Amino acid sequence: MKRRTFVLGATTAVVAGSSIVAVREIQRQKSANFDRIDDSRAGQQYDVCIIGSGPAGCTVAEQFVARGKRVVMLESGVSLQDMLGMRAARKLDVYGNSGSIDYPLDTSRIRALGGTSNIWTGRCPRLQPDDFAGNPLAPAGGWPLSYADIAPYYQRAEEKLYVSGDQLSASQAPRQAPLPYFKPGNIDELRKLFDPLDIAIDAPPVSRTPENGSPLRYTEKILPHLAQQPNMDLFSDATATRLESDGGGSVTAVEVRSNSGETTRIEAQQYIVACGALESTRLLLLSGIGNHADHLGRYFMEHPFVSYRGLLPGGDEFPAWQMGRTYQFSRDFNEKGHGGIILGIYGNKPNRLKIALGIEMSPERSNRITLSENKDAFGSPGLDLHFAFSERDNACMAAGEQLVNDIFTRLGASGVQKLDGMHWSHHHIGSTRMSARPEDGVVDENLRVHGSDNLYVASSSTFVTSGAANPTLTIVALSLRLSDHLLGAT
Ligand SMILES: Cc1cc2nc3c(=O)[nH]c(=O)nc-3n(C[C@H](O)[C@H](O)[C@H](O)COP(=O)(O)OP(=O)(O)OC[C@H]3O[C@@H](n4cnc5c(N)ncnc54)[C@H](O)[C@@H]3O)c2cc1C
Repeated sequence: MKRRTFVLGATTAVVAGSSIVAVREIQRQKSANFDRIDDSRAGQQYDVCIIGSGPAGCTVAEQFVARGKRVVMLESGVSLQDMLGMRAARKLDVYGNSGSIDYPLDTSRIRALGGTSNIWTGRCPRLQPDDFAGNPLAPAGGWPLSYADIAPYYQRAEEKLYVSGDQLSASQAPRQAPLPYFKPGNIDELRKLFDPLDIAIDAPPVSRTPENGSPLRYTEKILPHLAQQPNMDLFSDATATRLESDGGGSVTAVEVRSNSGETTRIEAQQYIVACGALESTRLLLLSGIGNHADHLGRYFMEHPFVSYRGLLPGGDEFPAWQMGRTYQFSRDFNEKGHGGIILGIYGNKPNRLKIALGIEMSPERSNRITLSENKDAFGSPGLDLHFAFSERDNACMAAGEQLVNDIFTRLGASGVQKLDGMHWSHHHIGSTRMSARPEDGVVDENLRVHGSDNLYVASSSTFVTSGAANPTLTIVALSLRLSDHLLGAT
């Protein structure tokens, strides 16, 4: 069997350069072995096959490995330092847009070991209780889970993601315990400014590892550990191209292909699709699984935001740059039928204030991922996103803009202006939605594809609505819940 070395942190220049000793040292310190896919694993029976090595896939893998299960993880990408491998992997990203929004699909996720955690910012808020069960925005059936169902997993997810932050205000989701790591917010001037307006500003909870203070990157901390476990096989450059099924609800194998020309089949008792929302949806579409009620690919959502700037009266409001957030208006907006909003508040020297208004998009059937005519390097159809703003999205944005202008007025700000352009948060949500009844969605409350007995999806694609919060904490919480469910811990 061919083995390669998974070198973390070594630049191509070093690898290609003269210092073999330096390369060996880097390998000794930071490497873990992983395999290139070939047919030697065909016929082996794993307990679980996890497709994708981002936060979702790694979370499930850690739980199964710790329980001594035989785990195989298939990752389409390679290490970021493998320039040639990265170039080959990009040929598998075939995307297009057919709706009125020209969405930047190619820059909003990454096909590499560790997935999009390689480039994420690490903001980790919880969804609000009224985002879940009983949410009037949700299409037929709504969320099959309540906030109480997921709250214990939020706590565990915050620990796994090293979430740190200050004491949180009552406008944040309720919690049983403080954030795992305390870090004072340093936003005193922002708080003082907004206090008279009765607006509570929070320092955003954020993933920060103790080693280097950066957001958790699964390639640095989790994958090297996983790859060294005797009960785990981790393959990179291993793209799941199709899920094979027996026609009666069971997945029997995954067809896997590599850019170096190998094709094989991997068999397991359970299969977890954790390819990010776009590619998880595409893999189900390519496999002809999960579209029993014409929901697969539909209800795609993102978190668009626009920014406004103004000058505060007086002199030096801010000694240094400060950043806070408030979810305080979400409930009121929800009750009015607009959906949630978030205000990001940025104070800058000497007295500049920026407010970024982020909205929750409504889940619309017509906002949809389908397969396209264009083919990837393996000849598989690429992905088309039909995406447009709904009337409700426009109404939410307009009401939010009114609120922001009102806040600037109450602060006595001058020169208030909307900054150019709409921006995206790179959050892909909703295209394999969860539902209690098969006729309302793609997966059930335990993330099992309706009608299948061994296929699960771990991704923000399963969210029924998107709330206004960044999704990764919820992805990790749901992945922990899924693991407990499959391992019989619930
Ligand atoms: C610039 C940026 C900033 C962000 N900041 C934040 C933030 O502050 N807070 C937050 O909550 N979220 C943030 N996000 C979003 C966050 O990165 C994602 O929510 C998160 O990474 C999703 O995890 P995942 O495991 O579901 O998917 P991913 O991390 O995308 O991982 C999916 C993996 O599956 C692999 N894969 C895909 N198809 C196949 C296949 N067919 N076979 C095998 N493998 C496959 C991919 O290569 C990838 O490694 C940000 C995103 C971007 C781009």
